[in-house]
Formats: sequence, C-alpha cells, structure tokens
Amino acid sequence: MSTIMNLTVLRRFIQLIMFIFLVYGSVIVGFYAADKISGALPSLSCAYDQMNADYCALIPLQHQFHHRLGSAVDSGQFLMIVMPVFTTLATFFIMFIILNKAFCGWVCPLGFFQEVMQLLGQKLGVRKVDSLSHTAVDKVRPVKWLMLGGLVFGLPALTSLGFLSDEWGDPFCQICPSRILTTLLSADTDQVFVDTSTPSYMVLSILGDFLFGLTLALAMTLRQPFCRICPMLALHAVFRKLGLARLVKKGTSRCDKCGLCAEACPMDIRELQTDFNHVEKSHDITLPDCTLCGRCVEFCPDKDVLQLRYLNIPIFSADPNYFKKRKKAQKQWDEIKVVNLDTARKVKS
Ligand code: SF4
Ligand code: SF4
Ligand code: SF4
Repeated sequence: MSTIMNLTVLRRFIQLIMFIFLVYGSVIVGFYAADKISGALPSLSCAYDQMNADYCALIPLQHQFHHRLGSAVDSGQFLMIVMPVFTTLATFFIMFIILNKAFCGWVCPLGFFQEVMQLLGQKLGVRKVDSLSHTAVDKVRPVKWLMLGGLVFGLPALTSLGFLSDEWGDPFCQICPSRILTTLLSADTDQVFVDTSTPSYMVLSILGDFLFGLTLALAMTLRQPFCRICPMLALHAVFRKLGLARLVKKGTSRCDKCGLCAEACPMDIRELQTDFNHVEKSHDITLPDCTLCGRCVEFCPDKDVLQLRYLNIPIFSADPNYFKKRKKAQKQWDEIKVVNLDTARKVKS
C-alpha cells in the first residue's frame, strides 16, 4: 500500500460516486425509474430531492403509518397496514442484507457530507473534538431509538388514529437534514423556510432548519454528529446480525487493548477495545452504532485481530505493516492546513 492509497481513500471515492448517484441519479436512471429502484433504500437519500436516484425507507414507513393505520383500526382489516409495511421492510431488507451497515459508512449522502464537513473543519483549523466522553456517548446512544420509535412510527401512528393533527404525519422527514441538504444541492431552495401556515408546521420547519444548521456546524468539530441520533442507524441495528458484511474481532491475547481502534472509530465505540479480549473464538462485533467504515481495522496494529468479512471471508484484516503506513499517511494529511485559526489567533494576540 502506498501512503496515498488506503481503505479510507477507497471508501471516500465510493462515497463520492454514491453521493453523486443518489443526489442527481435520476438524470441517469430517468425520473420514472428513480421512483421504482427500491423506494426503501437503507440510507438517507431524500425523496424531496427531485433529482434523486432512490429514496430512503423511512419516508414510506411514516406515510404507511400515517395514512393506513387509522383506517385499518376502524375497519378491522389489519392487512391494510401490515402488507405495505411488510413490503417496505422486505424491500429494505433485500438491499440491506447485501451491504449491512456499510450503507452508512459507504453509501449514505448525509454520512459522506458530515465527513466532508469534518475534513473541511480540520483543514480550516477549527478545533476538533476527537472523541466524546464515555458518559456523553452513553447518553446519546438511546436517542436514535427514540427517533425511530417516536418520529418514524409513533407520531405518524398517533396522527392516523386522530390524536394529533395531520401535520405530524411525517415528522422525521420534516426535520431530516438530508431533506435540506439534498434539495439545496439540486438547486431547490423550497425546503429552507419557516412554514407559518399552522403552529405545528412552524415548529417542525424551525426544528428542521435548526437541525440542519446544527449538523453543518457540529460536523466541522465532531465526527458524525447526526449519525449518532439517526433513526436509520437504529433500523440498521435491528437487522445487523443478518447482513453479509461484518466486523469481526478475534478473541486473542494479541489484542493488547491499546485502544487505537476505539480512538479511530468515528462513532466512539469503545467496546472494540474492551470486549471479547479473552475468548479465542471470532466474534461479530458489528455493534448497533457501527457504520462498517473499517477505520478501526486500519488502525489496529495487531495482525488479524480485527477484520472486515463478507460471507465470513476476510476481505480486509488488521496488519502491522499496513498500520505503520496508514499512520504515516494520516500524520502527513493532518499536517496539511489551509488556514490555521489557532496560529492566526496567536499572531493576532
Ligand atoms: S447514520 Fe449517518 S450514515 Fe447512516 S443513514 Fe443516518 S445519516 Fe446516513
Ligand atoms: S487496536 Fe487492535 S490491539 Fe488495540 S485494542 Fe483495538 S483490537 Fe486490540
Ligand atoms: S466500529 Fe470500526 S467499522 Fe464500525 S464505525 Fe467504528 S471504526 Fe467504523
């Protein structure tokens, strides 16, 4: 491996291609086909983007609960809700099984955008919060389940049953940063506004604009801020044991618990370092927050301790030689600064 070519560079290249395809892909596949590719993609590719190549599973799930649950309960015909939800989840699953959580680390436009913002923040010398504390990580982790349960299923269901007004039928889409990001990138400014037509729409549109701004700003200092609370990450976590791609740790004394893997992990998954150290068997450690980005494998210095596997075949393994070159490449990259605000501040004072 040269110091330039490594797994992260390859991943970013694939992310870029997927970003272009998902944000502008209907130009390639046609507007009709764009609607039909799956409509249940396991990444936050937004249906509000008129040029997108496919849209994420969360929009049909919200709409199915919003538009069908009430009628199903009233008529007693529960198949009215079960069948569409089952079809969406089955379609989602057929795609998800192929890449598992790599839909986050290698495909999602919003995931890639946050990485780009982090690189930009680093190169502009904005101070970077390398890792969240364990306490902060533990506090943030349940939020993604609340987002999935509350915004994707709960509020649309309550709306359908008549407990809430119609505006709460697709609350996650109303606040999703991918909606504003991808529409802006396709030259559509309609989604950045405060909707004053009703108090509920006003609350949701302000929340949406705020969350987009917050994601944009935080991503420059903290790794993957929105991913940590993303309902899609939670949906992935439910099915992750069935995916063909896995992160595996060999329980072996070769893991010296150095913690470099956890330090490299953009999602601050400390269990990489602390768990499965004393059992000789290999363990699937594709944990609920993992995005299968592979950085922990790149930065593990101990041979074969961490592996990315596909169909249980190792496709990328920790290796001391790779580690040395990767570390050198990272150091060279970190030293490149476009503007160093810290130095600028010192010069000024
Ligand atoms: S967790 Fe991050 S990468 Fe995964 S779908 Fe959500 S925004 Fe995208
Ligand atoms: S980087 Fe490798 S050796 Fe170090 S704690 Fe993680 S798994 Fe163990
Ligand atoms: S555990 Fe490894 S593969 Fe998963 S998100 Fe962290 S660094 Fe990436």
